Amino acid sequence: MLSLCNDLWEVQFDKDNGAIRKIIDLVNKKTILDNLHNEVFRLECEEEKYMDSFHSFMYVEKEDGVKFQWNITSDITLIALWQMDGNSISVESYIENRSNQKLSSMEYPLLDGIGDFAAIYGGKNRKDFKNYVAHSYATGFLIEEPLDNFHEDEGFRYMPYPESFSGASMQFFTYYCENKVGLYFAAYDGQYHQKWLNFYKHNGKLRASQIYGYEDIGYGNGLKAPWKFVITLTSGDGWYEGCDLYKKWALQQTWCSGGKLKERGEDKKASWLCEEMGACTFGIDACHDRSLWLERYSEDIKSPIFHVLGPDWTKVEQNYKNSIPGGYNDWFPTRFLDKNLDVIRRHGDRFAPFEFDFLVATDKSDSDMICNSLQKWPQKPKSRDEYKFTMLCPICQYTQDLHVKRDVQVMRESGCDAMYYDISANNILKTCMSDRHGHPVGAGKIMTEAYRKIYFDTKQKLAEVKGQYVPLGTEMMNEVFLDCLDFYQARANAQPCSFLETGIFRDLIKQGKAQVIPMFQYVYSGYAPLRMDGWGKLTKEGGDLIYHTIAKTYLWGGLFEINSEYSAMEMVDEIENSAEEHYCDFDPVGFPYDKSIADYIAKFAALRTGRYNHYLAYGEMKRPPKLHIPKVWRTYYQYNSAKSSMEWGDRGKILLDSVVTARYGYEDSELILFANTTDLTQDIMWQDDILQEDREYDVCFDYSTKTSDTKKIIGKELRNLKLSPRQLFIVENKK
Ligand SMILES: [Zn+2]
Repeated sequence: MLSLCNDLWEVQFDKDNGAIRKIIDLVNKKTILDNLHNEVFRLECEEEKYMDSFHSFMYVEKEDGVKFQWNITSDITLIALWQMDGNSISVESYIENRSNQKLSSMEYPLLDGIGDFAAIYGGKNRKDFKNYVAHSYATGFLIEEPLDNFHEDEGFRYMPYPESFSGASMQFFTYYCENKVGLYFAAYDGQYHQKWLNFYKHNGKLRASQIYGYEDIGYGNGLKAPWKFVITLTSGDGWYEGCDLYKKWALQQTWCSGGKLKERGEDKKASWLCEEMGACTFGIDACHDRSLWLERYSEDIKSPIFHVLGPDWTKVEQNYKNSIPGGYNDWFPTRFLDKNLDVIRRHGDRFAPFEFDFLVATDKSDSDMICNSLQKWPQKPKSRDEYKFTMLCPICQYTQDLHVKRDVQVMRESGCDAMYYDISANNILKTCMSDRHGHPVGAGKIMTEAYRKIYFDTKQKLAEVKGQYVPLGTEMMNEVFLDCLDFYQARANAQPCSFLETGIFRDLIKQGKAQVIPMFQYVYSGYAPLRMDGWGKLTKEGGDLIYHTIAKTYLWGGLFEINSEYSAMEMVDEIENSAEEHYCDFDPVGFPYDKSIADYIAKFAALRTGRYNHYLAYGEMKRPPKLHIPKVWRTYYQYNSAKSSMEWGDRGKILLDSVVTARYGYEDSELILFANTTDLTQDIMWQDDILQEDREYDVCFDYSTKTSDTKKIIGKELRNLKLSPRQLFIVENKK
């Protein structure tokens, strides 16, 4: 065996074929990866034609590493440079192609035979331990016991990056047994290269892998991954451990080079968005009178609201029923209803139009230009999403020109404060197979760069015209767009009463075996765009899970979103909006508006815009305290999704923590928040010693408005907490 090792662990490679045979924890004398299989790589030649064998293999040992070379054919060679680097091993690899074949992608490395850590470390006490995989899929997702919960060749099988709807928002994942051991996998690529970061079940064990390619496909072209794919042995200290490792690298990258949000000037951020908005709505009709609801939300939530109005404002219908505009002339004149905008302005609210910015009709204005500029998808996209969209390729000049020119005119006509882009760069595979757009076939990295340019150009022009910074937002978020976008809409916080991303794991979520986790916020708080989440309807019939979702969304740094896309709005004054005046079909439901939900949002809206705003908007998310928190069953009824979706009409209950907690740092101060999401008193016990017994803290016992009092309390008096129904309890440690 060839091996790379230090005092802590050893990685053994097969001398005959370069396969990774074993990973051994030397301290505990445990083998955590044990691989008997001989598949070392998967080379994709023409689309979907694979090679995994080779003619010959050789290696050269170096001082701190080893160089492998596989001669796959007489003129195609895979080269991999493995290195031991402190507590990590890493690999860079590339393909030399002297043949006249086209190569599409390479899956390498393959780490096969990753075992059941809980069984390896727990032995007879296996049941006392649990394995988890945390992946940056959809901004963060945790699945327990992946060997039990993944089917063969499934799990996080094809996870494209950067693509957070179906793939990875950041470049890492970690598999661990709590408090015992873990493996952290990351690609340290700051250059936006397209890749897939996968963790799935294979041959009855777990496999971690990376795929790269689809960037420059052509006869005789090679493939390369000019970054370190890193593997680190961890101590299994929760999913935060992987985040802490990644964060050290991530905050040094280009997308963070603009500095922290709090340090950016008024020409580089929208302070009103970060500091003044207490809640948000999504999908309220733009061209029909919705003043009744706009007034009511405002009256009860009591803080300014950010509205992403629905798509129904374009000249040619932009709706969810197969009608969208094409070129510039299809968009104007716009049809925003003044009465809605007047209410928004009167309350100090702000708004952005919903726009499919790259998704276009091919049979309307500019049909020829559009057809020549369409993104060409690969035959099989290697993603859960099939991308059945007619998207403009961002590298085409037509796309770039339309985006800027159109959005400036939308802003001129509507007076909007921001722009929102649906199915935009964050949802889309960065692959364009066209050979007629002037870019290499595949595109990848340069496609991400083109999206970045379009967002920057549009933002710059909008600011010039408006005379102030105009924030841009998208559906979902990836780290590569951190510095060009200001907010994003996500929905996963509301699971299992949500729709779209993470829906594929909904059964596991309902069983309590999978959950959304704030990985993205934990890594990038202080830099990241503002998250809109919650997918909420303010009705009793929707269930009481919503209280948990509201608290979680704010405590994880976001704004709670009232969503009016796929169902009737709440009945206010006996009035419900009708499907005839909407951009998609829904049935009347007649569920009345529930003021008690609005009151709960109002409390958090006051929190978001009040004296602790700087922690949530600009602070650094830290690990929450370890607490014993009673769990409660929450009910939900999902009626706000497309009728054809698997979620529609589903109702049930889910067991969740009764109290949501979070902890933030800002400069030298710290804030710990506790939100009782139930209508019962909850007893909380500390299981760690973050609080010092004799130290004095500023405590707000029941934050409900911006003027709620604080008292000085010493640590030992906070050891046992009793939280009254829906109480928001806050401990500040000012230094
Ligand atoms: Zn293209």
